[in-house]
Amino acid sequence: MSRTGVFVCHCGTNIAATVDVDKVAEAAKDFPGVVFVEQNKYMCSEPGQQAVKQAIEEHGLDRIVIASCSPRMHELTFRKMLTDTSVNPYMLEIANIREQCSWVHKDKGEGTDKAIDLARMAAAKVDRNTPLYTSEIPLTKRALVIGAGIAGIQAALDIADAGYPVTLVEKEPSIGGRMIMLDKTFPTMDCSACICSPKMNEAGAHPNIELRTVSEVEEVTGYIGNFTVTIRQKAKYIDYDKCTGCGLCEVKCPSKVTSEFDRGLTQRRAVYKPFPQAVPSKPVIDATNCRKFTEDRCGVCQKICTVDAIDFEEQDKLVKQEFGAVVVATGYDLIDWGKLYGEYGGGAYPDVIDALTFERLVNASGPTEGHIVRPSDGKEPKSCVMIKCVGSRDPHKGKAYCSRACCMYGAKHAHQFLEKIEGSECYVFYMDVRTPGKGYDEFYMKTLEDGATYIRGRVAKIYPENGHYVCVGEDTLSGKIVKVNADLVVLDTAMVPQESAGEIGRLFGVSRDQDGWLNEAHPKLRPVETNTAGVYLAGTAQGPKDIPDSVAQASAAASKVIGLFNHKALESNPMISFVNEVNCRGCGDCVGVCPYGAITLETVERRENSVKVMRDIANINSGLCQGCGACTSACYSSALDLKGFTNEQILQEVDALCL
Ligand code: FAD
Ligand code: SF4
Ligand code: SF4
Ligand code: SF4
Repeated sequence: MSRTGVFVCHCGTNIAATVDVDKVAEAAKDFPGVVFVEQNKYMCSEPGQQAVKQAIEEHGLDRIVIASCSPRMHELTFRKMLTDTSVNPYMLEIANIREQCSWVHKDKGEGTDKAIDLARMAAAKVDRNTPLYTSEIPLTKRALVIGAGIAGIQAALDIADAGYPVTLVEKEPSIGGRMIMLDKTFPTMDCSACICSPKMNEAGAHPNIELRTVSEVEEVTGYIGNFTVTIRQKAKYIDYDKCTGCGLCEVKCPSKVTSEFDRGLTQRRAVYKPFPQAVPSKPVIDATNCRKFTEDRCGVCQKICTVDAIDFEEQDKLVKQEFGAVVVATGYDLIDWGKLYGEYGGGAYPDVIDALTFERLVNASGPTEGHIVRPSDGKEPKSCVMIKCVGSRDPHKGKAYCSRACCMYGAKHAHQFLEKIEGSECYVFYMDVRTPGKGYDEFYMKTLEDGATYIRGRVAKIYPENGHYVCVGEDTLSGKIVKVNADLVVLDTAMVPQESAGEIGRLFGVSRDQDGWLNEAHPKLRPVETNTAGVYLAGTAQGPKDIPDSVAQASAAASKVIGLFNHKALESNPMISFVNEVNCRGCGDCVGVCPYGAITLETVERRENSVKVMRDIANINSGLCQGCGACTSACYSSALDLKGFTNEQILQEVDALCL
């Protein structure tokens, strides 16, 4: 016979103002199995917890119901409290009489009746609870960081500085991401390379960081504390142990192609370092454009290399490594505006460029050494139109969301244009100006003082005329159609997730939102965690943001990893699925349903009617199972059940409600 104690919390007046707590406590005395009932002003407080401990001792309680706030709030607090008592921490049920009663009911009678129902259901469920026990899971104290933009670099540095080894995987030949392409950064206008390069070098030289460029994650198995990850280290065709980074091969290579780093404004060679400050400071060979691979001739780089570092025979390598935690920092891309905005020339007008291309144009270490020129003729433009929200806040053509950084970099570009070109004019078409960061609005105001003309409205059409572009739009403040002539047009295009985000999400079981950004576990309370334990998000992989927010989120993700690694071992969650082998018919329906890949079918030997038979039976990996319960409802044979939420427990609750 159970000996249940029920504790009713007032939560100050949070509960007590709308729920008659005396009535709930009085009703609880008649619930089956209940031998003790008490009220407390704040159950979560030290005196509240002490009262539970005392009652357990004095009344020999073996299960507890706490009628209080949501279990999300204090279930862990109360479980922790029970570890000091004779009651198993899982012999506890919470009746949520705050969020589900006092907060949603105005009528005290209704709120009270519901609170009594919930408390009765909790008492009925706890009656069928069985003690559950955690076990220790070993923990590999090595982190994997995917993507080496500023967010990935920061996360890797923080984890490495805390003394833990990190593998930093980057798909491009150099680390640095988008930030190293920028000229100056708002609102302080620090030179981007001057603040990004030291971090890149630090990451490249850190004794705890293993850098893997031109690499991508190919396969993932395992779970928090014990991920096994296969990384494809793509062939660079250069032996980095021999290469001195002298750059001779690059100079002599005859094969020229468009530079991705300079957004098509210059050319690079087939053997190349994407930019002078690249880390590692060694080139790679782009096989798709190398004459040795395409035409089986040339080989000049191999002939010229004094240390014999060129290796055309090099193959991709698959490297398998163990990790305890993963930080995904795969960053963003820009929307393919050419396909979507035919009215802006669809990419056919050479002087209608995106803002990242403008960053290369204005950059002192860029292709024009910071002289702003028109890509079409190399002439200095005297007028410029900047169009914000191209693809952002435009659900019909682009994305419904705000890209968050463009109001500020739009202001930055207007300021730079007016500052660099004397007597120039700059017009900015905008929907709204959103400048909520520290020092951001002041920066925008300064741009207005500089002489930028802000016109509220979208540009409906751009067409070339007499050597310049005519931008036609509506000034929504005056209600008039305006036509602005510009020598150069800069489009502030929407940030979108990197193409690889889908694959990364699939590999690690991380969900994505409707726009493809990787989802955090909870937007407010768990912003850097994901729904896969041990996998964290940093920077723009999670959604559009600027550098300060990307860096802050990276450090937050790193602190989660460090916190995890500070444990000796991990405690398993005992509330996981289990298989009733007699009922399982081996159909495998549950396998595809599990979002964490925790179920496999295993062939086992069984005796049926005294005959040995081989049968497929579902098997749950207790490390991977997160206890979501999806499989239990998918199984037609009722072979799967969830510890702590068994069918029997749930039905017991339902029966109690129907009393
Ligand atoms: P990224 O810089 O995109 O880095 C992601 C990295 O991950 C890349 O190196 C990528 O190659 C790599 N990667 C992607 N997928 C994989 C994969 N599957 N495997 C391995 N590696 C992968 N912000 C400011 O605060 N100030 C400014 O002045 C400013 N100016 C801007 C100007 C423009 C035109 C734009 C478009 C943005 C600007 N921003 C500015 C925003 C800034 O660029 C971002 O906030 C910042 O770069 C985000 O860094 P990140 O590390 O999250 O992403
Ligand atoms: Fe538009 Fe500004 Fe949002 Fe960018 S940050 S999408 S320009 S409102
Ligand atoms: Fe099929 Fe259920 Fe067995 Fe999974 S547990 S294989 S769904 S019978
Ligand atoms: Fe997978 Fe079932 Fe565990 Fe959910 S409860 S994680 S579906 S095995």
